[in-house]
Amino acid sequence: MDNCIFCKIVRGEIPCYKVYEDDEILAFLDISQTTLGHTLVITKEHFDNFLFVPKDLLTKAISVAQRVAQSQVASLHASGNNIIINTNEVAGQTVMHFHIHVIPRYSSNDNLRLEFTPNAIEKLNLPAVANKINKNL
Ligand code: 5GP
Ligand code: ZN
Repeated sequence: MDNCIFCKIVRGEIPCYKVYEDDEILAFLDISQTTLGHTLVITKEHFDNFLFVPKDLLTKAISVAQRVAQSQVASLHASGNNIIINTNEVAGQTVMHFHIHVIPRYSSNDNLRLEFTPNAIEKLNLPAVANKINKNL
């Protein structure tokens, strides 16, 4: 894709700090460095997001993400990681080329804020919701 930032990184037209590379997958430091070592794992081929990545490539990408997360713990002495895939604008996706954020965590008071605010589940028909999702799997 001509105007995609991550395709430009894959082609070497925009520089990056490479963490890992093979024929199909590239991992490099995120420019924001939300926490030190914040890494993006991408497929070299352009897919707009998670919803469109073929299963075999997704398996390879998540496997590299796991290795990066393990190395953040071993080499940067992170205490844990958040693995995040934002899918579409509503979920915070700003670059429309599939990527996995691998974010090392050193403290729960660092720059990353993730909050799961509970819903009032008594007002929700959870069996119907589960069935609806199940129907299209
Ligand atoms: P999203 O919000 O789409 O899940 O994440 C996109 C990420 O790409 C952001 O965290 C942003 O900092 C990162 N990013 C955007 N442009 C560049 C760039 O040119 N180089 C690098 N290394 N990261 C970028
Ligand atoms: Zn792209």
